[in-house]
Amino acid sequence: MADFILALDQGTTSSRAILYDTAARPVEVAQKEFRQIFPQPGWVEHDAEEIWAAQREVMLQLLNRLQGKGTVAGIGITNQRETTVIWHRKTGKPIYHAIVWQDRRTASYCEELKKAGHENLITQKTGLLLDAYFSATKIKWLLDNVAGARKQAENGELAFGTIDSWLVWNLTGGQQHLTDVTNASRTMIYNIHTLQWDDELLDLFDIPASLLPGVRSSSEIYGNAHITDNRAIPIAGIAGDQQAALLGQMCIDNEMAKCTYGTGCFLVMNTGATPVPSTHKLLTTIAWQINNQVTYALEGSVFMGGALIQWLRDGLELFDHAADSEKHATAVEDNGGIVFVPALTGLGAPHWDASARGSVFGITRGTTKGHIARAALESIAFQVNDVLTTMAKDTGKPVHALRVDGGATANNLLMQFQADISNIPVSRPRNLETTALGAAFLAGLATGLWDMETLKTQWQEDREFTSTIDEKARNQYQQRWQKAIDRTKGWLD
Ligand code: ADP
Repeated sequence: MADFILALDQGTTSSRAILYDTAARPVEVAQKEFRQIFPQPGWVEHDAEEIWAAQREVMLQLLNRLQGKGTVAGIGITNQRETTVIWHRKTGKPIYHAIVWQDRRTASYCEELKKAGHENLITQKTGLLLDAYFSATKIKWLLDNVAGARKQAENGELAFGTIDSWLVWNLTGGQQHLTDVTNASRTMIYNIHTLQWDDELLDLFDIPASLLPGVRSSSEIYGNAHITDNRAIPIAGIAGDQQAALLGQMCIDNEMAKCTYGTGCFLVMNTGATPVPSTHKLLTTIAWQINNQVTYALEGSVFMGGALIQWLRDGLELFDHAADSEKHATAVEDNGGIVFVPALTGLGAPHWDASARGSVFGITRGTTKGHIARAALESIAFQVNDVLTTMAKDTGKPVHALRVDGGATANNLLMQFQADISNIPVSRPRNLETTALGAAFLAGLATGLWDMETLKTQWQEDREFTSTIDEKARNQYQQRWQKAIDRTKGWLD
C-alpha cells in the first residue's frame, strides 16, 4: 500500500509540489517561482521549459525528502488554465514562449469575430464567451506568426497543449500527448456537449486537428512519470485550477459553490450532470469527469477582490498590511453610510460596464478611514453576492452553501458580511490549499487510495459563518448597493 499522493500545482507565478499523506494532510511542500515575460503592453508570456524545470525541481525535492519514508501512489496535476504551448513532437522543444491566459494580443481579432456574428455559435458549443483569454486565438496567433509553424502543423510535426498537457508530455518523456476535459473546456475549440474537439470551430480558427491532444477524464491512470531511472509513478489526476479547487472544497453536490478570495474573487458552482447556459455572461464549463460521469459548473469572477485592499494599502497608504483592514473596519460600529463601488477597472458580472470607474458614496465630515475600510470589505462581499444571485437566476435554484478559500478569507469581518448579505452559510476549511488538494483527490480516487466517502470526511471545516442580520436590514444594504452601482455606470464618455 502506498502512503502518499503528490500534487503538482502549476500556477501563474510559481510551480509547487505538495505531498499528502493517506489522510490527505499536506506533509511536505516546495515551491519555485518563474519569470513573467512582458514583451509588449498587454502581452504576457512564460518560458514553458522554465515552467517544466521549476516543476521538476520542486517535485524532485519532495521525493528526495521522502527517501525511505514510503511510496507515492500517484501524481495529481492542477494548472493555470488556457495558457497555450506549441512544441515540436520530435524534439519536445516549444516553438515559442507559452502565451499566458492574461495575454490580450488577440483581443482585436476576437472583436472582428464578434462583429462577424460568431459569438453565439462559440458560446453554444463551448459555454465560453468569445475572448482572448481562451486558447483558440492564441493557437492561431502562434501558427500565423512563428515562421514555418503552420506548415509544420499541417505536416503533423507539432503538438498543442495547455500546461497540463505540457507537463504530462515531459513527465512521460514524450510518450503521452493528452489533456483532461476541464482543461479542454477552456480552449474554445472543445464542444462541452459532445465532449469532442469541434470541427466547425477548428475551421473557424484555422487550427489543424493534428495538433490536438487526446481528451481524457479528470481521474484515471494516464501513464507513468519517469522521474528518475528507477522510479515510475502513475499520473492519475488532472484538472484546471478552479475546477480542482471546487473538488478540493468537496462541492460535489448540485448548487454547492466555492469562492476563492485572492487578488480577484473566483466563483464556481456545481450544476450537476447538466450544462446550464448563462443569460448573464457567466461561463458554462466542465467541473470534472470522474469515471464516465461528467459534472458541469457555472463560473463567474470579480475583478477587484483582495486587490482593492492592496490599493487601500499601497495606493492610498491607509494601512501597512492587508490584515489591518479588519482592525480598522471593526474599530467603527458600521459603514457610516458609505458605499464603495470598486469599479477600478470597470464592472464585471453581472453588470458588465467597462466604462464604470470606482466611486465612494455617502461621505460626510464624520467619515473615517475605518468607514472606508469597512465599506471596501463590504464591497467585495456585495460583488460576490451579485455573482451568486446571477448563478441562481441562471440555474433557477439558489446556491445553498458557499465554501471559501484564498488569502482574504482570513478576514473574519469580510466572511461574516458575506454570510449576512448572501444569507447562506459560509464555510472556511482548515486546509485552505484547496486547488492542490483537489488534484490530490483526483489522483487518490484513480489509484484506489480513496473513495468519495473517504474524501467527504477529509474536508474539514475551520469555521462556519451564518447570517446575523434580518431580511429588512439585508434589503436596506442591497438597495443602497444597487443605487450606488446605478450611479457608477457609464462614467467614461
Ligand atoms: P493570489 O493567489 O491572487 O495572489 P492570495 O490568495 O494570496 O491571492 O490572497 C492575497 C490577496 O488577499 C491580496 O490581494 C490581499 O490584499 C488580500 N488579503 C490578504 N489578507 C487579507 C486580510 N486579512 N483581509 C483582507 N484582504 C486580505
